[in-house]
Amino acid sequence: MPTPLSRRSFLSTSATLAAVGAVAGAATTPDQANAMEPIDTIEGPVFASTWAFGQAANEEAQRTLAHGDLLDAIEQGIRLVEADASNHSVGLGGTPNANGVVELDACIMDGTTYNAGSVAGMPGIAHPISVARRVMEKTKHVMLVGEGAREFALDQGLEAAELLTENRRQKWEAWKKEQIEMSLQESHDTIALVGRAADGTLAGGCSTSGWGYKLAGRVGDSPIIGGGLYVDGQVGAAGATGVGENVMRYCGSFLAVELMARGATPEEACIDTVESIGRKDPKALEEVHVNFVAIDKHGRHGAAGSDEGFAYSITTQAGSEVIDAVHVTG
Ligand code: ASP
Repeated sequence: MPTPLSRRSFLSTSATLAAVGAVAGAATTPDQANAMEPIDTIEGPVFASTWAFGQAANEEAQRTLAHGDLLDAIEQGIRLVEADASNHSVGLGGTPNANGVVELDACIMDGTTYNAGSVAGMPGIAHPISVARRVMEKTKHVMLVGEGAREFALDQGLEAAELLTENRRQKWEAWKKEQIEMSLQESHDTIALVGRAADGTLAGGCSTSGWGYKLAGRVGDSPIIGGGLYVDGQVGAAGATGVGENVMRYCGSFLAVELMARGATPEEACIDTVESIGRKDPKALEEVHVNFVAIDKHGRHGAAGSDEGFAYSITTQAGSEVIDAVHVTG
């Protein structure tokens, strides 16, 4: 396994990107770009996810892949995080909206078929990732929202649940009384899990309770295909965490995958995506809160973010590791 490219200098990676013509609009094809540098392929399954808590999801995905397919692996990995009530940004025990209701967002994408399924603003169902998968596999649609998504989940026999735990209810009541604004960094965190099976196929999923105390009905980037997640089976996969409003307006995960299609490594693609958002957004980069993790079809992986402290989890045949993402500064 090659040494992970964590904390490589932003300037030197930008220079590499420019050199291979990997920036959007350049004419270099992936084959031309790849011909310039030998590719360190990682053999066997590779799972990468946002944050240190993603490691358990990666490992569950890897176990599942031993007896299931890649979509099963993604679904089961994310279900593990959704079921963890001590994680306050995903699934059961997630942080509610301003009305005290936990509304969940999730999506899943199959890189081979480019099929996708998604649910947004869905209350009362324990595993939104499983609902997203049913939307993909059992309907003609890509996205269901709110009460319609919940009814569909129940029709599919999926588990209903009270998602607001006592701990979160008390926090929400304190927030309502004092109206203390949660800092952007403490009010969110998403599991985005991307994987490549040993046969080279790619898939990914994403699940979150979104921005804590958001307006009822607010939907972030996580269930938006191309925003919080994108998978191209011929190229790679990327997922996001951070302030969804600042990811979805720039089609962040789609951009990261497109940059890989033009020859960037996963790490270079994540850095350039953050930098591209930073160039366009009127806010200072440290106020944008956008973070990406990516893998490519060769099993290479990388991550970058505008948040200091963003880390990603990687699991391969060689084991699991939590790696500091490249911190892109303005
Ligand atoms: N991106 C998610 C959202 O905006 C939250 C997060 O990842 O922190 O809903």
